[in-house]
Amino acid sequence: MLSPSEVKRNKPLNNHDLLRLDGFQTVGTEQAGDGLIVDVELADAGRIERCDCPPMTEIKKHGRRTVRFKDFPIQRQSVTLRIKRQRWRCQGCGKVKLETLPGIDADRNMTVRFRNQLALDAVNRTFTDAANMHGVKETLVRRVFNEYAAEQLNGYVPAMPRVLGMDEKFINGRARFVLGDVESRSMIDLLPSRKTDVIEAYFHTLRDRQNVEIITQDMYWAYKEVNERYFRKAMIVIDKFHVVRYANIAVENVRKAIQGLLDNQGRINMKRRIPLLGARPATLNDERQRDLKKLLQSFRTAGHYAFRFFRKSLRARAAPLGPTSPLKCSGAL
Ligand SMILES: [Zn+2]
Repeated sequence: MLSPSEVKRNKPLNNHDLLRLDGFQTVGTEQAGDGLIVDVELADAGRIERCDCPPMTEIKKHGRRTVRFKDFPIQRQSVTLRIKRQRWRCQGCGKVKLETLPGIDADRNMTVRFRNQLALDAVNRTFTDAANMHGVKETLVRRVFNEYAAEQLNGYVPAMPRVLGMDEKFINGRARFVLGDVESRSMIDLLPSRKTDVIEAYFHTLRDRQNVEIITQDMYWAYKEVNERYFRKAMIVIDKFHVVRYANIAVENVRKAIQGLLDNQGRINMKRRIPLLGARPATLNDERQRDLKKLLQSFRTAGHYAFRFFRKSLRARAAPLGPTSPLKCSGAL
């Protein structure tokens, strides 16, 4: 005896039915503007819809209602399925029931397969792109996505990992707080903002905060406050990129300040040394190491100013961000 899947495979393929929609067969098509209307009917038409009355209660046909459902585009044309849906009326209680349509999402007037594809495309593309691709309105894609996301996230409880990564992602021009499990390289959550009150309200509800042993983050001031309140025992690791970045900014500011005091030729010479100042001394050859040494000796106090500026930059990050004042270079330099 054949299994149900084998029966399905062995069923002769109807070459005229390009829809390949289980439970339906195509009976005609009609061009309507830029779109295509496909008339379909149920493969097992005539199935009687029953209510809760006793099985012997008489049920009669009660006319048909033409309904339409969206489905995948065919050859870039939007497709609307049209079906004359049978109505049944119970002679006992008088209730009218509509024929059940398999694989149709009657609330959104589309096939279930089309709704699922819209949801997936809305994840991988922009809403506008997904809407254009399927010939539907962007608001519909947005609604389908929101429902899909709510379904996926239903019951999701973020679990705090051993190594917690804190970062931000700019979406629609605003910084959003992102949390990740660094060891498993997976994302845990995304908050609408990275403001202290938003982050604190989030961590406040989590019960397993003690799992966190290490936190990796940048130098954003709000993270410091949050860590001191909720992760006092965790070790904080700051990506060296952020530290090096401020050191580079400090060096650049000192260079510019010194340059401003020099004559024309001096300024040109100083500009030529930008790569030298940005390089790691250990990677320089002997000649360039000597050049760097000479340069630093001729502006001996510059290193001291660079260090001050670097510390100032760090403090500016530790406090609410504001414009950092440029280094004032005195004539003594
Ligand atoms: Zn009834």
